[in-house]
Amino acid sequence: MSGTGNMIHRLTDNRSASTSRMGAASRTSAVASSFVVADAGQCIGCKACELACFAVHSQANGIGASVGTVSVPVVPKVYVVRTGEMYMPVQCRHCENAPCAHACPVQAIRQEDGVVMIDEERCIGCTSCVLACPFGAIEVSPVYRAGHVVTQSGLTHRANRVALPRTAASKCDLCAETENGQPACVEACPNHVLRLAKGISDSPPEPRREVFFPRL
Ligand code: SF4
Ligand code: SF4
Ligand code: SF4
Repeated sequence: MSGTGNMIHRLTDNRSASTSRMGAASRTSAVASSFVVADAGQCIGCKACELACFAVHSQANGIGASVGTVSVPVVPKVYVVRTGEMYMPVQCRHCENAPCAHACPVQAIRQEDGVVMIDEERCIGCTSCVLACPFGAIEVSPVYRAGHVVTQSGLTHRANRVALPRTAASKCDLCAETENGQPACVEACPNHVLRLAKGISDSPPEPRREVFFPRL
């Protein structure tokens, strides 16, 4: 297995072990983050990354790998944006001192082993994290389960009394809880635009620098 594969599986294992201690964990950790980066100049805007991301995170909604299985809105955790003739995939950078986690009023965002995760069950959809994220990497959207929108208990439209959907924040989780734990967007990109950048803790330590002051 490649070094990247090893690292992702380590993240997956740690994540599943740490999910149960979500309540006790601190909001941020000292572990350096890994994140997916893009060579924006090479992106052709095909959105294969968006579809791959959506598919691996929608297994509970019965979404498979083919278009015919899609029965809910396509909501990925990576967003391809266009500026003029340029395309740029945007996703979470898993900041070491994550502003979104500090902004969340209900502690729904935690950093576990370098991966910033959102607990969608705890999220109240307030959008504070959306405003706090400097990369525009978080979206708040309706929650779907088993192919149906989840409604918010006690929340109805003022005019027609129709139940309103429950919304929750969503963003890149490095595919930490998917079946093979590999970033699906990286594997799907036909132009090899995306790659997993390793956290600095996986790099050799910086050599210590001696500072000499001139004698006066
Ligand atoms: S939208 Fe959810 S995750 Fe974001 S700040 Fe509000 S409660 Fe927290
Ligand atoms: S690493 Fe996974 S969760 Fe993150 S953008 Fe890529 S496919 Fe989506
Ligand atoms: S799959 Fe690659 S080329 Fe296509 S939109 Fe995503 S990053 Fe760009």
